Amino acid sequence: MFKKILIANRGEIALRIHRACREMGIHTVAVHSVADEHAMHVRLADEAICIGPAPAAKSYLNIPAILSAAEITGADAIHPGYGFLSENEGFARIVADHGITFIGPTADHIHTMGDKIEAKRTVKKLGIPVVPGSEGSIDSMEEAYRVGEEIGFPVIVKASLGGGGRGMKVAQTKEDLEEAMSTAKSEAMAAFGDDVVYLEKFLSKPRHIEVQILADSHGNVIHLGERDCSLQRRHQKVLEEAPSPTLDEEARNKIGEIVRTAIASMGYLGAGTIEFLYENGEFYFIEMNTRLQVEHPVTEMVTGIDIVREQIRIAMGMPLEVTQDDIKLRGHAIECRINAEDPQTFIPMPGTVRDYHAPGGLDVRVDSALYAGYSIPPNYDSLIAKLIVHGRNRHDCLLRLRRALEEFVIDGVPTTIPLHVKLIENEDFKAGNYDIHWLTKFLEDQAAQTSE
Ligand code: ADP
Repeated sequence: MFKKILIANRGEIALRIHRACREMGIHTVAVHSVADEHAMHVRLADEAICIGPAPAAKSYLNIPAILSAAEITGADAIHPGYGFLSENEGFARIVADHGITFIGPTADHIHTMGDKIEAKRTVKKLGIPVVPGSEGSIDSMEEAYRVGEEIGFPVIVKASLGGGGRGMKVAQTKEDLEEAMSTAKSEAMAAFGDDVVYLEKFLSKPRHIEVQILADSHGNVIHLGERDCSLQRRHQKVLEEAPSPTLDEEARNKIGEIVRTAIASMGYLGAGTIEFLYENGEFYFIEMNTRLQVEHPVTEMVTGIDIVREQIRIAMGMPLEVTQDDIKLRGHAIECRINAEDPQTFIPMPGTVRDYHAPGGLDVRVDSALYAGYSIPPNYDSLIAKLIVHGRNRHDCLLRLRRALEEFVIDGVPTTIPLHVKLIENEDFKAGNYDIHWLTKFLEDQAAQTSE
């Protein structure tokens, strides 16, 4: 049993993990950069250790410093959260080598799924449908043209090590392909230090639907239904909901079972998310995330399962407490990602939070590390809060969400709250009629209206 867990992260997710530990009677160690000395995760943890200067490369990504912090404090395990070192196989391996438990899958599984070409190949063999595309990497323009002709344009060039929506370029026609290849490659090289790319059919109006799974070390695998994350800007999620307004029980069970079988035969351990594009009633795998996701709370709201608690229990070698039959989806949940950004230009706008009031009431959850007087450092992601609201059905959920957004006060920095208010008032959104390209169009229409 773990007595102490080091949380190798910051912000709302560090708090989220701290809360699960507290409820399990586990002590927490916070690590922080110089810029985060006064951060909420540092204030709440039982112990805190400074691991370096503000830039993430010198602190939250500083493996020797984090390992030393774990050794000095005698932590039994490390929870990486999301981002930073959460999908770094070297980190998972070195943590284990030091006799500390990495709360996540094995380094081998992180490796396989971190390489998207390898991931696609692996899941395809296990019976998961994938987006039509190249079998492996594309190494020459001749090959790119051949595959492009084969699958038909438009196509999307994607970086094998891609993440965060980077290293992806669409070629509408054959004529665009050369430029798309070279831009995707140079973006990939700059962001991931590797320019291996592959080709996929560019789907014209899919939804992004992902399935959450939990797998223990006793061979039990369950899925917790899906999340619809189709509202995206530049391939990045803005609002997520569970269940998807577009899936029926039959489709949900079908994909859930396909995923469950595949994950079980992989011998996967921990929490994971299998991401799909969904178009014309068909699912197409795009990638698997081998970690906790930003949007996990919507699944928690509709299933009542504490995913972080389950991750910790699984890492301690305990069996899942529930079986697939115990999982009953209840009502509807929506998460709004609130960023310290200009709501029109989306330029990050860090600053000091003068006044702060989080909404409350029945079925309203706020995951945030903000407080009045807090100075948001400019060095990290602009996500400052997640508002998650539950309702008996989607309609009630939207009414409650509107009320909660109106109550939310974050004074001193511009936020994306006004954008969310507009979004949920939109008729298409209310009807659940949207795909992954919908938000871009919505934002263009908004910009056109304001400039008129
Ligand atoms: P990342 O790891 O960078 O998040 P993903 O492969 O998960 O990249 O894709 C992110 C988003 O990019 C998807 O949710 C979708 O909006 C878009 N996308 C990816 N592949 C395709 C495709 N084949 N067709 C259309 N859109 C795609």
